[in-house]
Amino acid sequence: MTLIKIRDLKKTYLEHGVEAPALRGINLEVDEGEFVAIAGPSGSGKTTLLNIIGGLDKPTSGSVIVDGVDLGALSKSALADYRLRKVGFVFQSYNLIEVLTALENAEFVLLLQKVPKAERRARAKEVLEAMGMGEYLNKRPNRLSGGQQQRIAVARALAHNPRIVLADEPTANLDSATASGLLDMMREMNERYGVTFVFSTHDRLVMDKAKRVILLRDGVVVGDERKG
Ligand code: ADP
Ligand code: MG
Repeated sequence: MTLIKIRDLKKTYLEHGVEAPALRGINLEVDEGEFVAIAGPSGSGKTTLLNIIGGLDKPTSGSVIVDGVDLGALSKSALADYRLRKVGFVFQSYNLIEVLTALENAEFVLLLQKVPKAERRARAKEVLEAMGMGEYLNKRPNRLSGGQQQRIAVARALAHNPRIVLADEPTANLDSATASGLLDMMREMNERYGVTFVFSTHDRLVMDKAKRVILLRDGVVVGDERKG
C-alpha cells in the first residue's frame, strides 16, 4: 500500500528578496513498512523534504498525500493533529527534555494525546525496552551517552504508534559504531512494529543500512535504489 505520495513538490525560500529553490519538483512514492534513506549532500533539500512530509513546513506548490490524506487540504488544527498522531519525529540533536527521565521523555507524545497514565507508562516502557533501554528508565538524558539519548528519542517517536517515523540525520552526532547500532535498532523497530521509517543522511554507512536509498541533489531526485 502506498503510504506517502508526493507529486511535483516544489519549495522556494525567499532569501533577502531573492528566490532560492530548495525543492524543484519531487515525485516520490513510499509504501507502508519501508525503511528508506533520503541521501544527498548538505543543501540538497533533505530537511526541507522531511519537514514538508511531517507537516512542519508547507510547499510552494505540489502535493503530499500521506495515508490517503492530502496535507495541503488540512486546516491548521487538522495538520497539528496529523503531526501529533500520524508522525513520529527524530532530530539530529535528540531534543529530549532534560528535566524528564527516559521514561517520561518516551511518554511525552502520549501525554500530549491525553492517554491515561498507566497505559502511557506501559507503552513507553515497552518501547524503551525494545530499544535496549530497559535499564535506564529513570535516568535523565544528561546522564546518558549520545547513542542512548537517541534511542530514547526513537522510543518517543514510536510510542504513540505513528504511521511514519521521520528522522532528520539521526546519526549526525554519533560515532560510526554507535550510528551503526542505532540504525540496527531502528530497522528492528521497523520490522517489529511495521512502522515506516524515512530518515535523511549523508553518511555512507547509514545508507548501507537502508532498504531503499533515494538520492537528492539540488532539490531533485537523481537516484532511487531498492536493495535486497
Ligand atoms: P539539507 O537538509 O539537505 O542540507 P535543506 O533542506 O536544509 O538541505 O536546504 C535546502 C536548500 O534550501 C539550501 O540551499 C538551504 O540553504 C535552503 N534553505 C533551507 N531552509 C531555509 C530557510 N529557512 N530559508 C532560506 N533558505 C533555506
Ligand atoms: Mg538537513
